[in-house]
Amino acid sequence: MTPRLPLPDVTRTDEALRSERFGDIYFQEADGLAETRHVFLDGNDLARRFAAITPRRPFVIGELGFGTGLNILAAAELFERVAPKEARLHLWSVEGYPFSRADLAEILNAHARRWPELHDLAERLTVAYPHPRPGFAQIEISERITLTLAFGTVEDMLARHAFRADAWFLDGFSPATNPEMWSEDILSNVAVHTRPGGSFATFTVAGHVRRALTEAGFNLEKRPGFGRKREMLTGTRTGTEDCVSPIQSVAVIGAGIAGAWAAFRAREAGFEVTLFDPNGPASGASGNPAGLVMPRLEAADNAPARFYREAWLYALRAYARHAPEALHPCPGEIRGEAARFRKVLETGLWHPEDLSLEEECVLAGRAALLSPKQAIETLTAGVDIRVQSISRLERQAAGVRLHLEEGHFDVDAVIVAAGPMSAPLLELTRDMSASRGQVDVFDGPLPTHILTDGSYVAPFEGRLIAGATYDKADFDERVRPDKPSTERNREAAEALLGTPPGLALACRASLRATTRDRHPITGPIFGGEAPETENAPTVFALTGLGSRGLVTAPILAAHLVALLTDSISPLETGGATLVDSARFAERRRRRGQT
Ligand code: SAM
Repeated sequence: MTPRLPLPDVTRTDEALRSERFGDIYFQEADGLAETRHVFLDGNDLARRFAAITPRRPFVIGELGFGTGLNILAAAELFERVAPKEARLHLWSVEGYPFSRADLAEILNAHARRWPELHDLAERLTVAYPHPRPGFAQIEISERITLTLAFGTVEDMLARHAFRADAWFLDGFSPATNPEMWSEDILSNVAVHTRPGGSFATFTVAGHVRRALTEAGFNLEKRPGFGRKREMLTGTRTGTEDCVSPIQSVAVIGAGIAGAWAAFRAREAGFEVTLFDPNGPASGASGNPAGLVMPRLEAADNAPARFYREAWLYALRAYARHAPEALHPCPGEIRGEAARFRKVLETGLWHPEDLSLEEECVLAGRAALLSPKQAIETLTAGVDIRVQSISRLERQAAGVRLHLEEGHFDVDAVIVAAGPMSAPLLELTRDMSASRGQVDVFDGPLPTHILTDGSYVAPFEGRLIAGATYDKADFDERVRPDKPSTERNREAAEALLGTPPGLALACRASLRATTRDRHPITGPIFGGEAPETENAPTVFALTGLGSRGLVTAPILAAHLVALLTDSISPLETGGATLVDSARFAERRRRRGQT
């Protein structure tokens, strides 16, 4: 069982906040913001570096010790003041003893009263800050600022996440009272998570901290400290900052929910985006009237458990923020074995608001229904959408050529999010399969919430939606709804409702794409040659989402765009590996040898 996150043990006055556990203060009483600006912002030379941010590569800051969020707010405030319009900021901050939502809201409110220039950002952070759960939560503070909160011990969280920061704030209480935060291993791991030319700043000049940071590869400089502190420390990793990726234009193939999120995130990151779909937006499984945004439960704390949990929470946040009119909150009941559900809750990965154990079922209180068509329309507003079919991808010396029925289209990179048609386009037909799914709409009766037991029924716009069937299909099959499937959906609905559904009003069938191991594929797909012999990848997959596309598409699209921009993925390493396209490349290579 994952240990629950310990609560901070603090005493508070209007100006100060003190940790009883560590016997130290969170920030200087006299003027915490002035101290933050001096030590962490000026110590990393952020005003100059923010003003010089180039497009399509966010500036990345890491922090040891999120605490009250003061440093993060101060960095965000400076960024908004001095960075160019198209610049983006990604923040990463670890916290082992997080404040609850309610406590942090009060603290942020006090920050806002004391420092009015932080007011707007403090309000945004209050709204976006999630219930702390072990693991990572990526939240959006503004259109240009993203924060990844890493809830857990610094040692565990650094080991679980691969990213490289341009600058670090080392702010984990004094080394004398909290040696764990300043061990050689931690500081060497900070260096591993720093780009060449990247920097750190800290208030301490303790001898063993200086030695460990030098050993880790930083060139140190002592500078005058803040207030009564005579000195502070900064450092830079040798090397120069990487140049920006040559990718400017991106084509997305497939205008379903995965393609829509990919197009949205790629555009937001500053790429020129063209979206292709031979049948127009929402023509596949995403054309269903509504789908479920429900969690997938695992009975252990492992990579799939963390991936599917965070995918669900990320999806709820992302739809609420970017396509709110498409999201309809509706609690969901998952039926099954009580013993298994107990194990799910014992993982410690869930907040009581997410899941609660009832008799013979789990209630997902924050679940929702989504109108995918509406979400796709909102996410792709302003995107260049071409109703054209791509027959083949051709990797070129630079970029990719998309072969159309007539002519071709050249781009720097392509994201294939074409459901089952991704398999032939990416030469993954042996690792993927297609299945036909039918959804039926009945005129009632209406349950008060979603009911699932493998099949589902849900109330949507005054009608009963029931689904979905599974039948093996070909990748390019033209599927139509049929009566036998309606009967199967009717029977499954009756079993869930305990009473037969009414008149069948409408039905829809479509294809899903699934992989061999049932987890999605997200990442680069290399051509015939081994990856090492290729230049930077130009062909990316975002497919194999099976029947969980509405839930996994938002986080996977953000992960893929983080790969393209060398910024912070919302996925921890375990999740990134789970969905990595390399797992099939290796199988393909082995198949080739035998
Ligand atoms: N930067 C914060 C701010 O702006 O309010 C103040 C950070 S406070 C000085 C140090 C933080 O490090 C505390 O919130 C504490 O809970 C956290 N911390 C201490 N030891 C830790 C550990 N081993 N792993 C994770 N977090 C830790």
